[in-house]
Amino acid sequence: MNLHEYQGKEILASYGVTIQRGKVATTAAEAVAAAKELTEETGTGWHVIKAQVHAGGRGKGGGVKLAKNLEQVEEIAGQIIGMDLVTPQTSAEGKRVHQVLVAEDVYEPGEVEVEEFYMSVLLDRAQGKNMIMYSTEGGMDIETVAEETPHLIFTETIDASHGLQGFQARRIAFNLGLSGKAFKEMTKFVAALYNAYVGSDSALFEINPVLKASDNRIIAVDCKITLDENALFRHKDLAAMRDTREENATEVEAKAVGLNYVDLDGNVGCMVNGAGLAMATMDLIKQAGGEPANFLDVGGTADAKRVEEAFRIILKDDKVEAILVNIFGGIVRCDRVAQGIVDAYKNMGDAINVPIIVRLQGTNAEIAKELIDNSGLDVQSAVEFQEAADKVQAVIG
Ligand code: GDP
Ligand code: MN
Repeated sequence: MNLHEYQGKEILASYGVTIQRGKVATTAAEAVAAAKELTEETGTGWHVIKAQVHAGGRGKGGGVKLAKNLEQVEEIAGQIIGMDLVTPQTSAEGKRVHQVLVAEDVYEPGEVEVEEFYMSVLLDRAQGKNMIMYSTEGGMDIETVAEETPHLIFTETIDASHGLQGFQARRIAFNLGLSGKAFKEMTKFVAALYNAYVGSDSALFEINPVLKASDNRIIAVDCKITLDENALFRHKDLAAMRDTREENATEVEAKAVGLNYVDLDGNVGCMVNGAGLAMATMDLIKQAGGEPANFLDVGGTADAKRVEEAFRIILKDDKVEAILVNIFGGIVRCDRVAQGIVDAYKNMGDAINVPIIVRLQGTNAEIAKELIDNSGLDVQSAVEFQEAADKVQAVIG
């Protein structure tokens, strides 16, 4: 589950990571009030207005702008709130901005020049250990740095049973070319950041840029956090941070009725029981010359109600040209599933406007096939995998 920048920064701050302070606003007037409060707290009159959407590259898309006075805060916040922000990481339609973060400008020039670094914390699956990845080249895409100057990316692997060691934090500060106060600040920053990552059961932290300010403080300017969904049950406060407006609407709806659904780009919808069979079915669709429109695992109870919910979810996607139902009747009997499909189909009437191919295999598969064939509905049945693939191929042409 992804978080907004402002939510991620709340987590960081609670673990003692120094952040660029800010306040969230949903209107231009709120943004002005937020800027006034911030000026009282921080003493700075300059602010940065940042679109809060689940996408990176906001700066490039015009979603991060500097305001030198309250008039500019009002004007810029007014422009950004409500816009469809297009960045290199969004679709061409962009993402609607519902709120902005009004933050203190931490780049104000002083005696020492500011520097931008890159830092992320993630799981290195190959080693089965957490890893801090960092670079002197902050503020730009890490993918570009990896391509053009890979020697400027460093990693520090952390053994979970020992945690981050002092020498590791010092090595990071050293490799980033720091000394004096900034060196010490960086070691504290890294330790707090790692604690926040472990404590929040996160899957990914990306802080780009980490700023060395002109007063040598080390500050998280940006913050992208992905929480581990499987650990959310022990973080009710973090689970409450979910912003469903940022997620695929159909996926949110499917989750609400307990269906395991992932939206994909293809033309053949699929309804399957069991994640493994769902993966195999997606392969089958590809071999038949189609592309899967979704991943959908209906789980163990494929009764009429559930089948109907699944059909409705699949049909919300107007790229769907056919639906392949592939159910293995192990615990659930095929004839019951077939009856569920027939009942759901009759109940939905005109809502079903694409051909349906049903493959039922397992207990009572033959009875199930008869039920489907005698239903008088526009549903084709198959018993063998290949037979189902051929029928899909025939209907999508
Ligand atoms: P992203 O584009 O989605 O990664 O959003 P960021 O939060 O990283 O902001 C984009 C860029 O805006 C950063 O790389 C900074 O260079 C710049 N930026 C962010 N905050 C400030 C600020 O307070 N002052 C100035 N001058 N620039 C900022
Ligand atoms: Mn960034």
